[in-house]
Amino acid sequence: MAPLDTETTADATAALTEYALGWSSVNGLGMGVKDPAGLWTTTHLPFCLMPNALPRREFEKARRLAPLYNELVDAISRDAEWLEGVLRDVVEGDPFTHELLKIFREVRAQAVPQQPLCLGIHRSDYMLHAPDNGEPPCFKQVELNTIASSFGCMSALTSRLHRHLIARFACDDDEPPPPGEMHALQVELAELVPESPALTALPDGIAAAHAAYGAAGALVVFVVQPRETNSVDQRVLELGLWELHGVKVRRMTLAEIAAEGRLDGRSGLRVGARSGDGDLVSVVYFRAGYTPADYPTDAEWQARRLVESSLAIKCPNIGYHLAGTKKVQQVLARPGEVERFLGSSDPSRTALLRESFAGLWAGDDDDAARAAAADPRGFVLKPQREGGGNNIYGAALAEKLRAAPRAELASYVLMQRLFPPRQRATLVGRGRRTSGETLSEWGAYSVYLGTGGGAAPLVNEYAGHLVRTKMDGVDEGGVATGYSFLSSPVLV
Ligand code: ADP
Ligand code: MG
Ligand code: MG
Repeated sequence: MAPLDTETTADATAALTEYALGWSSVNGLGMGVKDPAGLWTTTHLPFCLMPNALPRREFEKARRLAPLYNELVDAISRDAEWLEGVLRDVVEGDPFTHELLKIFREVRAQAVPQQPLCLGIHRSDYMLHAPDNGEPPCFKQVELNTIASSFGCMSALTSRLHRHLIARFACDDDEPPPPGEMHALQVELAELVPESPALTALPDGIAAAHAAYGAAGALVVFVVQPRETNSVDQRVLELGLWELHGVKVRRMTLAEIAAEGRLDGRSGLRVGARSGDGDLVSVVYFRAGYTPADYPTDAEWQARRLVESSLAIKCPNIGYHLAGTKKVQQVLARPGEVERFLGSSDPSRTALLRESFAGLWAGDDDDAARAAAADPRGFVLKPQREGGGNNIYGAALAEKLRAAPRAELASYVLMQRLFPPRQRATLVGRGRRTSGETLSEWGAYSVYLGTGGGAAPLVNEYAGHLVRTKMDGVDEGGVATGYSFLSSPVLV
């Protein structure tokens, strides 16, 4: 199947874009924006007009890696001594991670009963990278997100958009299928542009945690940012919880939890007017709380502490959150560390994980820092931050390595820079389209419901894919910021 946009005329591409914008408004492929008067409204999410080619082998590999990363996160979160040791170097130069670690410690030291169940909704992000030996490009992990992994629902819609456009326009030469065969055509296309299970797998995961908590009338709380642009993605999940499972969601900011939240006599988390009992909360799902900006005052930290010390099931708890730091990713790449958590009885599992690791070094590793300062093109310097826009490249990287104090450098990791193959694509944002050479980052969602104490997890599965595409030459990422565009894989 040839990419439509390179073969069709500009008029046809314009018509296709208009049709795609129609599809996205009908189907809710949207995001929030402020209009010029400062009021919130929705617009379409930036998207690629056609899917991007991905080797089927790598897509399948990311699916197989998903449950392994789930197990790793769970095992790491339960090894407090290891986490403390790994993050010791980081916290001196990083007050945000330090605060998380303090809450982790405090809550573990409390005498009250703790929630053994942990819900993980993670997303492992990859780029294709060609090895030096001339072999074809394969996935290397960019990072593992264990908190607020977003775009799962919007990404599933993007794959649907692409299948719709292909069925409607790329098969134009053929006789249109009789109405009864439309479904068969979609099934056939799903072999090429796979359906993402996120629209059911993500609400199913939260509903499984809610059921395991064992209080049918309790609420699920979504912790959100006060001015969230990606609210449509969150709303699909919220509505899915109600429609598929009859579970009620309340969206709350950390400030609202600070004002309304409290523990009942059994350490249950309650929210609502102070005068009454309040509503019991079964699951707290964080779509905020991953960046220092989410904690403008001590009240937000108190809210995080309260949630962590309650019996509500956290997605994620602080152990899971910390297991997703770049420092943990770097230390895991050292010999023996993956085996420490997954055991050595099945070397194929640990080998698969290791194959996905890029080169990673501590920010204060003298040899790596010397090499990166001399020629920064092959490296990225990363702080323990989430949400994009924090990494350092090129001349600024070299300068940082030369000038920053050692304690500060220790709070970073140095990573091999990945160079994914370029693909021509047409990107549509705010109704306007641009075509050119693009790079893509691929994500695999996973859901894990861990029981603690060595028992088998209640859920451990792959939960969907994400493709974000940006123009070649753009270092920054981010869909809401306008740099990246949602896409989907066409398997080749
Ligand atoms: P965040 O948690 O802020 O999303 P990431 O590790 O994903 O941090 O880095 C942000 C962006 O920087 C990525 O989406 C990717 O575009 C780019 N990036 C990160 N690591 C690398 C790398 N090793 N090689 C090339 N680009 C990278
Ligand atoms: Mg991240
Ligand atoms: Mg990222």
